[in-house]
Amino acid sequence: MNRYDLTVCGGGTAGVAAAYIGAKYGLKTLVIEKRIHLGGTMTSALVMPVMKSNTQNINCEFYNDFIDELKKFNGQITYCDGNRGWFNPELSKLALDSMLERVNCDILYNTEIVDAFTEDRLVKSICVSSKMLSLYIDSLYFVDATGDGNFSQALKNNMLKNPKSRQPMTLRFQVSNIDMKTFSDWLLKIDTDRNVTTVCEVNGEIHLSTACTWDNNKHWALKSIFDEAVKNGDLTISDTAYFQIFSIPGMPGSISLNCPRIQLDKDIDPLDAFARSKALTLARKQIWHLYCFLKKYFPGFEHSYISNMADMVGVRESRRVEGQKIYTKEDILSGKKYDNPVLHADYPIDIHSYNKDGSTLQSTRVDYELPMECLKASGFDNLYIAGRIVSADFEAQAALRIQSSCFSMGEAAAKDIYKRLR
Ligand SMILES: Cc1cc2nc3c(=O)[nH]c(=O)nc-3n(C[C@H](O)[C@H](O)[C@H](O)COP(=O)(O)OP(=O)(O)OC[C@H]3O[C@@H](n4cnc5c(N)ncnc54)[C@H](O)[C@@H]3O)c2cc1C
Repeated sequence: MNRYDLTVCGGGTAGVAAAYIGAKYGLKTLVIEKRIHLGGTMTSALVMPVMKSNTQNINCEFYNDFIDELKKFNGQITYCDGNRGWFNPELSKLALDSMLERVNCDILYNTEIVDAFTEDRLVKSICVSSKMLSLYIDSLYFVDATGDGNFSQALKNNMLKNPKSRQPMTLRFQVSNIDMKTFSDWLLKIDTDRNVTTVCEVNGEIHLSTACTWDNNKHWALKSIFDEAVKNGDLTISDTAYFQIFSIPGMPGSISLNCPRIQLDKDIDPLDAFARSKALTLARKQIWHLYCFLKKYFPGFEHSYISNMADMVGVRESRRVEGQKIYTKEDILSGKKYDNPVLHADYPIDIHSYNKDGSTLQSTRVDYELPMECLKASGFDNLYIAGRIVSADFEAQAALRIQSSCFSMGEAAAKDIYKRLR
């Protein structure tokens, strides 16, 4: 039997922070990851940059160490708006490996939990399986950071009720060999009042970001170009639902696209395996439409090519696990303070919708705090939950799910366990 102080299930955004901090503070720590690298949505789903939230945030030790590590691989920049979270997804895999190796954290890649053994309100041990092995692991504490709450589901911890209307999924992709000078000059000419477009030079490289959606509630500088492409039959109306791009540190001439938003004829349940698979096929079709559109309509893309399609679909929300407290939209909007906060944030309630003009971004006038009870599973005394599965209602989760908050959740869970074992 392998014995640990802390076992983290899922080495993604929140899980890697929990594992790193647990091991750094001296806990005998194991992280179990079903893929072959760490980072989850940050690496596999190609999601960058870390959204800017409160500069006064707490539990940022992992985030700061991650930035320092990425700098060694030239995989991070600070963008012109002061955001330090512009990361290169590929180089993040290297940086995260190196960080966990340094703190002596054990990792099991290509491994999933197949069974769990409980006694009253305690998770005692788990059985994990990979192509190579099947083994039992005994641990004092567990963190479920699987994104979809797979571990808590297997343990039959209560789940929170999902709304009828879900947030859409996105399959991100990257395009390379763009003439960034030509493209950025053109962008700045089109977006004359700099509505959403920003361009800056960092370490001698051009970096930029812009966006356009099918919603009418904002003036999008690129809208007429998308409309023309639909008229010409180069894009479907669904392809225009959401378009957002970011340049990528350490990949000159490349952009990361936060699209296509996958639009089937009805809301897709991200937990329905058939629907999720159908969505992937559709998404890759949409990627091809968008790429051909870029090549034809955007100067600078003439010699570009698709360099990567994410190997994990981007899921904004699927399961939320019931904790000792359920955080609510009212908690966010009131900015209520707590004795043992996990994070301080000000990121808005950001709900993507399948429907035109249905997406909402509700700003908070005050900073909000998340209490530790939202990371403690309701059914077990030694099970923590971290990441987008946090114990929160649908609206509150839509604010908490950003990467910086997921880092803080993973870190806070590990520190709480450390305090309990000390
Ligand atoms: C399309 C999209 C765009 C976004 N854009 C931004 C953005 O620009 N900036 C921002 O800050 N946030 C953004 N977000 C939000 C943010 O990226 C995610 O909410 C966050 O990364 C989720 O972190 P997590 O740790 O909960 O899950 P993940 O990072 O997905 O980690 C879950 C991990 O668990 C592993 N796993 C799952 N099941 C098992 C199992 N049974 N056994 C072992 N391992 C398992 C997975 O392989 C994965 O590595 C975006 C989200 C999406 C979907």
